[in-house]
Amino acid sequence: MRLATILLCFLLALPASAQGIQQTKGNFEDKFRQLDEVLPDPNVYRNASGAPGHQYWQQEADYTIKARLDEDRRRLSAESTIRYTNNSPDTLPWIWLQLDQNIFRTDSMAELTDDFGGPGRRGPAVSTGGGGEPARLSLEEVRRQQAMEDNEYGYEIRSVRLVNGGDLPHTIVGTLMRIDLPTPLEPGQSVEFAIDFDFNIVEENAIYARSGYEHFPDDPRPGGNDIYLFAQWFPRLVAYSDYEGWHNKEFLGRGEFTLEFGDYDVTMTVPDDHIVASTGVLQNPTEVLTAQQRQRLERARSADEPVFIVTPQEAEANERTGPSGTKTWHFAAENVRDFAWGSSRKFAWDAQGHKQPGAENETVIAMSFWPKEGGELWRKYSTAAVVHTMKVYSRFSFDYPYPTAQSVNGPVGGMEYPMITFNGPRTTLNDDGTRTYSLSEKMFLVGVVIHEIGHIYFPMTVNSDERQWTWMDEGINSFLDSVAGYEWDPDMPWGGSIPRDLIPYMVSNNQVPIMTQSDSVLNLGPNAYGKPSAAYHILRDTVIGRERFDFALKEYARRWKFKRPTPADFFRTIEEASGTDLDWFWRGWFYTTDHVDISLDSIYKMRIDTENPDIDLSRRRAELASDPAKIGVLLNEEQDLPIWVLEHPGITDYYDENDQFTVTPKDRERYTSFLEGLEPWERKVFDRAVKEDKNYYVLTFSNKGGLVMPIILGLTFTDGSTEKMTIPAEIWRRNPREVSKLLVFDKGKELQQVVLDPNWETADADIENNYYPRRIIPSRIDAYKSEGGNSRLSRDLMNEAAGE
Ligand SMILES: [Zn+2]
Repeated sequence: MRLATILLCFLLALPASAQGIQQTKGNFEDKFRQLDEVLPDPNVYRNASGAPGHQYWQQEADYTIKARLDEDRRRLSAESTIRYTNNSPDTLPWIWLQLDQNIFRTDSMAELTDDFGGPGRRGPAVSTGGGGEPARLSLEEVRRQQAMEDNEYGYEIRSVRLVNGGDLPHTIVGTLMRIDLPTPLEPGQSVEFAIDFDFNIVEENAIYARSGYEHFPDDPRPGGNDIYLFAQWFPRLVAYSDYEGWHNKEFLGRGEFTLEFGDYDVTMTVPDDHIVASTGVLQNPTEVLTAQQRQRLERARSADEPVFIVTPQEAEANERTGPSGTKTWHFAAENVRDFAWGSSRKFAWDAQGHKQPGAENETVIAMSFWPKEGGELWRKYSTAAVVHTMKVYSRFSFDYPYPTAQSVNGPVGGMEYPMITFNGPRTTLNDDGTRTYSLSEKMFLVGVVIHEIGHIYFPMTVNSDERQWTWMDEGINSFLDSVAGYEWDPDMPWGGSIPRDLIPYMVSNNQVPIMTQSDSVLNLGPNAYGKPSAAYHILRDTVIGRERFDFALKEYARRWKFKRPTPADFFRTIEEASGTDLDWFWRGWFYTTDHVDISLDSIYKMRIDTENPDIDLSRRRAELASDPAKIGVLLNEEQDLPIWVLEHPGITDYYDENDQFTVTPKDRERYTSFLEGLEPWERKVFDRAVKEDKNYYVLTFSNKGGLVMPIILGLTFTDGSTEKMTIPAEIWRRNPREVSKLLVFDKGKELQQVVLDPNWETADADIENNYYPRRIIPSRIDAYKSEGGNSRLSRDLMNEAAGE
């Protein structure tokens, strides 16, 4: 899911386990303390290296569903058959199902616990006032209330029964339903049961549901047209895992889905002028597509550019008339964890084959579906972005695992399902009938398509638990979508996923650790998307290095492809595949709310004394002379005060010609006896050091943000040369607050300036204390404050420029 809005948050105290209990004298904190006491113990299902254990298992749920869309009543009816296979070592007396549509019942836990004005709120921002202001209610909020009042949402379960058997007792608990089996399901056994259900389809723009219908009242057809997006639409198995048993966590809206893999056979009966986009592969093209459409689809398989199956002109003609009956589309999908689809008479449709030589699916059909409102923006960029995503993500993980990859425009801003994604960006209709869009809408389209298609890898294939840990899929996906974004066009003003983007969030008070349950996270965008993404960029580019990080990430993806990883499996795999102890990194970045701020406090320059009085004493004389003159003496001079010894030139003696640095024969004797007193090895070392006369610098650093990080130094020398040096984070292991580092350079190589983290790669919050010597802080009087950088991005400059 893509998160566009940023919500306000509150500070939560860290769980005690995050820090570990540590008893030390003084103020010492071991930032490198191992994480084993926090992570679950390895076992036969998940081993200590982070891989699936030798007895790893997971359940399977296969579905056959016949669905009918009643467009007039905006209601979906379906008969489903589920074959559930118990691969666990446990005997199961019952089965739990997820009834996600029940979240829209007025008595759902999500509705009842909706904190008005609270940070976890779905939908548009509301205000409870604060600061003495009265509470305000937005029109969006009122629209939602009215839609909930006017419609009855949630499932109507018509029957639950065994296939070839009788009715099954079932108990509905909010968004969950327990089915009691007549005989417990033994390990290795399967059970087949059927559920018939209906529900009223929610209006997405009123309810904010990740699915539903959108109505277009201005369409030329009397009564207008709809786009339907179906997701979380059928009763799905609750996951049963080795680490949690049944995942009985109520759907509260934020924490997404925890699901089982299985095969699907789905038919949807829809108005016969609709085009259906769906998870899976179309099984009956001859029944639902024209001969011309089938030819075009075949041509698209080998095309280098997207080919229209339904042209925008054909779609516009289609949306003017109406249906003459119904058509039944038939899709099948293998080994998917979910199934979603969209349906509308408004859809234009293009497709292009993406080649993966040697892969299980050698040709993947990339497709996009959009109404006229998507316009040129979609024609140019949607399917292209689908193909680009597969190219980049497969490099980091595995071949795209399915035969199709689709991007469908509709009312959902951005949401992912196996083989299909829903994406929201659109064009604006101008008075002259043209359609234009802003740069931010273009960035939104390319970015959201990459992001949602990327989710087909994580978590649709690497099946992490979204209900508990949003960051597991969103973090890796935001990291990879930013990699793909910069490989699409590095000049686009992308934001939100690289280390420097996260600084304002990481210094804010409104934070919880990344390791926070999905529904309790306050500021979901930066917490579960941006911060883990920034962390992976730092691991990749700074801590581990690209080659080993990419190897480790690929190993994680390979190990857990079509399996269910936990956070510990991820942490352990990245450590062991990269060969790096990263417990300090996971502890700091994922279990605390510390930020990065390292200060370069001082640099001392040192030089070896030669002990030779003829050299050292004249150096010391020069040093003394370089001290500033005494202010009193300076002011005396300004006043022209008489100086006694100048007024009485006759009273000089030895000390007027010689100072305390004058070398005496005694000094030279002491030097000789010093040299003679050295052991042979001491003499060798001393002679060499004096001869080489190197520059010794001691740099002192303090850790102001709390997170220990590598110290990256950009060194500039007086001869104009530069050097970059990275000191691993382990320098902080004995003192996480202050450290110093000795640097040695050849004679003549003198430091002029040192800048910490010169490329802004660690999310260091205060860059001014990174300069030594400190610099004058560049700033500017912002004449464009009222329409700063971001608002210019969202202006439709195509349209504004057209007026010139
Ligand atoms: Zn997402």
